[in-house]
Amino acid sequence: MGLSLRIDVDNPFGYATLYKKILNRISLDYNLVPKLSTLGFLDHAKKLRDYLDENSVATTWFFRNITAPSKTLLREFRKNPFDLALHAERTNTLENFASEVQKWEQSFGTTPRGFSKHGSGDLKLSRMHDMEYDANKFIDYGVELGFEYFSGNGTEYDSSFKNLKGLVYIPSIFWLDNLDLHPKKLSLDDVITSAESKEILVLVHPYWWSTLKEVRDRLDYLVQQTEFISLQKQVDEFRGNV
Ligand SMILES: [Zn+2]
Repeated sequence: MGLSLRIDVDNPFGYATLYKKILNRISLDYNLVPKLSTLGFLDHAKKLRDYLDENSVATTWFFRNITAPSKTLLREFRKNPFDLALHAERTNTLENFASEVQKWEQSFGTTPRGFSKHGSGDLKLSRMHDMEYDANKFIDYGVELGFEYFSGNGTEYDSSFKNLKGLVYIPSIFWLDNLDLHPKKLSLDDVITSAESKEILVLVHPYWWSTLKEVRDRLDYLVQQTEFISLQKQVDEFRGNV
């Protein structure tokens, strides 16, 4: 039980200027832009990383292959209390998903224990992106490839974890950067209270955190009022308890 943090690292360069927007698009669609700090690669994620590091917030970073950090930078995202997982893009067939996992393993030098899906079925987000969101299909993939958990994109943030054929399925998340997805009167205190008796997962995107003050304020509030616990720990405990 408790609150955990999922960060989906979506955009390598963000959209702050037209130049960055173009770099971002070329990178997302063709992976042709070098991963250089001087160009602003992962600027938003790095800022968020520093903030979470300073505040010792347990965090699981879900990286796409396209946003995989360079080796030096990767060390910073591996530091305790951080954890790494896959943000999956090519999910139309098990073969494509498996090759995405393989690529991820090459970039990160480790096997991902969990994954989430990029996009919730409404938009095609880049050239290689499969937009379909089919949780049952992803659960099957996860079981087939021996994943420990799949974190879904549902909005019923307090729905329970499920154990499906050995895979922990987390149907929903609390979208901290898009509260409109949740009932209007919901407050952050409600979320904190829910986490006293349930496993709750909070989602933040580096770009929105970095560009919207209200998202930073919300995360600040949670960080000050409560202690995040590692998602992997919640998954381990849940598996042990079922
Ligand atoms: Zn995403």
